[in-house]
Amino acid sequence: MTAFDGLVAVVTGGSSGIGAAIVRRLRAGGARVAVFDVDPDAADAELALPVDVTDAASVEAATATVGKELGRLDVLVNNAGIGAQGTVADNPDEEWLRVLDLNVVGIARTTRAALPLLRRSPAAAIVNTCSIAATAGLPQRALYSASKGAVLALTQAMAADHVREGIRVNAVNPGTVDTPWVGRLLARADDPAAERAALEARQPHGRLVSADEVAEAVAYLASPQAASTTGTTIAVDGGMHSLRVRPA
Ligand code: NAD
Repeated sequence: MTAFDGLVAVVTGGSSGIGAAIVRRLRAGGARVAVFDVDPDAADAELALPVDVTDAASVEAATATVGKELGRLDVLVNNAGIGAQGTVADNPDEEWLRVLDLNVVGIARTTRAALPLLRRSPAAAIVNTCSIAATAGLPQRALYSASKGAVLALTQAMAADHVREGIRVNAVNPGTVDTPWVGRLLARADDPAAERAALEARQPHGRLVSADEVAEAVAYLASPQAASTTGTTIAVDGGMHSLRVRPA
């Protein structure tokens, strides 16, 4: 018997990168998984539903479909997110609101829709994909860092609100992960190979994190084995948060 036998999970942003690795890992552990993504055709899961987490109606309709088709919901992984570059001066208010709406309010929206089903689960768990940017003070990432700082605070507040009803809420804090997102970032660089080397050097362990490594931490936090773990984060960042190692 594996950790997720008989359980149902929703993974937002599950069609690519970290989300797709989480879907593979949860399914390997026995879960039936529904992906909520703006690009559902790229998902490999029991259910792939067209969802924009900034659109409450699409979130609510997809959650109702999960209840109808899969009969329950035990694990919600709030993983959908987008990046933003620059200092506070570089992004107009509209861009701030767009990114915060997706990265932060998207989690509130998806969780609000999922709570009635999660409350019926004996093993309810929520895992949010945060980022090392929440605490690392990275240059040129003001808006993105603010959004992930909010995800960190939201994770702790949600954990406190729902602990007595048996719903655990945790987060993963990845460093720089080798996903299509980072591929797009490198493609825009003047010298992609040099930019990749710089990103690798920024990680104390000297390489990018793999999406599968992040998925493994998510699987632990989502599993019934983590029944006494809530309101916390696992860093999957090659030591970036806790070590003071910097490129020589
Ligand atoms: P990715 O771009 O490879 O995948 C993101 C997925 O989210 C895509 O399938 C996309 O279609 C989907 N998506 C985008 N907007 C959406 C919306 N409005 N509604 C529903 N789905 C939407 O990115 P990734 O690198 O796998 O990142 C996933 C998460 O990990 C994000 O929250 C990101 O902030 C976080 N993260 C990434 C890194 C990294 O280095 N790649 C590091 C730390 C944290």
